[in-house]
Amino acid sequence: SLRKLWTGAVWAEGPVYFAEGGYVLWSDIPNDRLMRWSAKDGASVHMKPCGYMNGHTRDLQGRLISCEHGNRRVSRQEKDGKVVTVVDRYRGKRLNSPNDVVVKSDGTVWFTDPPYGILSDREGHKSESELGKNYVFRFDPGSGDLRIVADDFDKPNGICFSPDEKQVYIADTGASHSKEGPHHIRVFDVVDGQKLSSGKVFADISPGFADGLRVDTGGNVWTSAGDGIQVYSPRAELLGKALVPEVVANLTFGGPGKDTLFITATTSLYAIKVKARGAQRP
Ligand code: MG
Repeated sequence: SLRKLWTGAVWAEGPVYFAEGGYVLWSDIPNDRLMRWSAKDGASVHMKPCGYMNGHTRDLQGRLISCEHGNRRVSRQEKDGKVVTVVDRYRGKRLNSPNDVVVKSDGTVWFTDPPYGILSDREGHKSESELGKNYVFRFDPGSGDLRIVADDFDKPNGICFSPDEKQVYIADTGASHSKEGPHHIRVFDVVDGQKLSSGKVFADISPGFADGLRVDTGGNVWTSAGDGIQVYSPRAELLGKALVPEVVANLTFGGPGKDTLFITATTSLYAIKVKARGAQRP
């Protein structure tokens, strides 16, 4: 059964789990704060202001990697608590407002860059786009190389690799600002670990659209949607749903067995135990 762990956000996003401390962090974007919840301590404000953070993940060393609307960057929190820039410009131009991020097993950082944080002051600071487009990027922290891996999205959003990293799923939330806009997840083949090919629509999501998404160890895709969580097989068959009473923005697997879904849904953080295990590290 679905449990409501906490409520009080304006727009909750970007849950990320820390197994070593048994806690989950997530963003409350309009309130410019990073929240924390554990079974032991309950909920608290972990960082405020936080640069209007949105999606999070962890790198190979377990450090927090965050998309920041306010600073228009992807950042990393060092062990001493200091938050540093991972990447904030493409060929000298500022990013729009990084939205969601994943770290591949080779350490490269893949993220989406729609304009939600610069369209208004609600989730960041209203500004012009310097890039003029909404790209999906791959950043190599070793070489400093930032490259575009997809340039034909309306508003790229959630991003997640298949368990073998041979494919990547990327949501397009163009429908958020246009009736005719896309509300689907696309899937691409990952070529040589650095390029995408053979992109096609994986699933049209309704009601609403897919924002954040994750995969389980069987390669099934667990996506946010207007009615809750929807689960698709690798062949895009809808396997089931976990209905949630608020619009879901994102989710992550956590808990000691990686079999608890932590769900950020509008004002609240929910959890539900499932018969699947998350494929994500750590
Ligand atoms: Mg998102």
